[in-house]
Amino acid sequence: MPKDYYDVLGVPKNASGEDIKKAYRQLAMKYHPDKNKDKDAEEKFKEINEAYAVLSDEQKRKQYDMFGPEQFSQKYNEQDIFRGFDFKDIFRSMGFDFDVDFNESPNDLFDDLFGFSGGQRGRQSSNSGGSDKLIQVTIDLKQATKDTIQKISITHFVKCDACKGSGVEPGSKVITCDVCKGYGQIKNVQRTPFGIMQTITSCPKCRGSGKIYEQLCRKCSGSGRNKKQDTIDVKIPKGVEDGMRLRLAGEGDYSQHRSGDLYIDVHIPKDKEFIRKGEDIYYDLEVPFYIAILGGKVTARTLYGEEEVLIKKGIQDNEKIILRGKGMPKFNSNSYGDQIMHIKIKIPKTLVGEELKLIERFQQIQESAHSHDKEDMDKEDKRKRFGIF
Ligand SMILES: [Zn+2]
Ligand SMILES: [Zn+2]
Repeated sequence: MPKDYYDVLGVPKNASGEDIKKAYRQLAMKYHPDKNKDKDAEEKFKEINEAYAVLSDEQKRKQYDMFGPEQFSQKYNEQDIFRGFDFKDIFRSMGFDFDVDFNESPNDLFDDLFGFSGGQRGRQSSNSGGSDKLIQVTIDLKQATKDTIQKISITHFVKCDACKGSGVEPGSKVITCDVCKGYGQIKNVQRTPFGIMQTITSCPKCRGSGKIYEQLCRKCSGSGRNKKQDTIDVKIPKGVEDGMRLRLAGEGDYSQHRSGDLYIDVHIPKDKEFIRKGEDIYYDLEVPFYIAILGGKVTARTLYGEEEVLIKKGIQDNEKIILRGKGMPKFNSNSYGDQIMHIKIKIPKTLVGEELKLIERFQQIQESAHSHDKEDMDKEDKRKRFGIF
């Protein structure tokens, strides 16, 4: 019967990620073979790591909760359990320095200990090289109305042009590997988190072939790639929306004979004047009160320049006028949304001189018209009530 991971870490089933991390760190410190020389410590340490690899990963934890310890252990092997789990980071953060203590990368080391090798690690896929890169780009709304080219500086690994990515100095001779003496395998005696371990591994220098090239590429020191500061043109298509992620194939980091991709997250801050809702643009159109009364023309701003707009006589506040096709372009298409304008009638805060006199005159006319209306109504009322004609 496999042990329950929650019991191993001593946390309840509903423990938070933070609690799990805390419990793990305490136990890992206690049972780390560098510190604990008990003979059970090694096994215990392995258990703790396994439990943490599962419970610290949301996806794996969900599966574990669903299946329970027994079914989970049948369904997933150790390779599944430790996939994507970065021991190096975790132990570094606890003060164990791998680069000093171990002559291999810790994940390789754990691979050996847990009996698997060549598993997937991080974002790099095992069957293809290259790693992807992500950058952020900010453009404004106006720029998003048309295809734009943004010049972006990035530092990425590119294929070494001197050796074409092989890592071998051109014209170099093939010789017997000096590390394994041509056997292709080496015996390692390592100090590991679990004590002294002896393992037979494939020779890291010749990768098991027993032969190496005499001279590594001088330009890339045999890595097959070089770091390069590049300025690249990124085409941002019209109609792009805030938060969209674009992909530029082959502009990521080069490794293992392949270039990864470059991902570009596009940000478009909110515009003060134009409010975007999908492909449509919302805009407040200010109309002076006398034009609202008499009708006339006003100038509206759009993302494509100014437009003269006809205002009908007696237009009301908040009425809608639509400029067809003046909205945002639809992403990946040639159609456009509309600019939807709400009328905002503008009333002057102060009037002086002739303007003031005119409005006061207007008021007098209005009020006397109202009082006449009232007199008429009173007469009508009397007629009805007293039968006077
Ligand atoms: Zn090279
Ligand atoms: Zn070798």
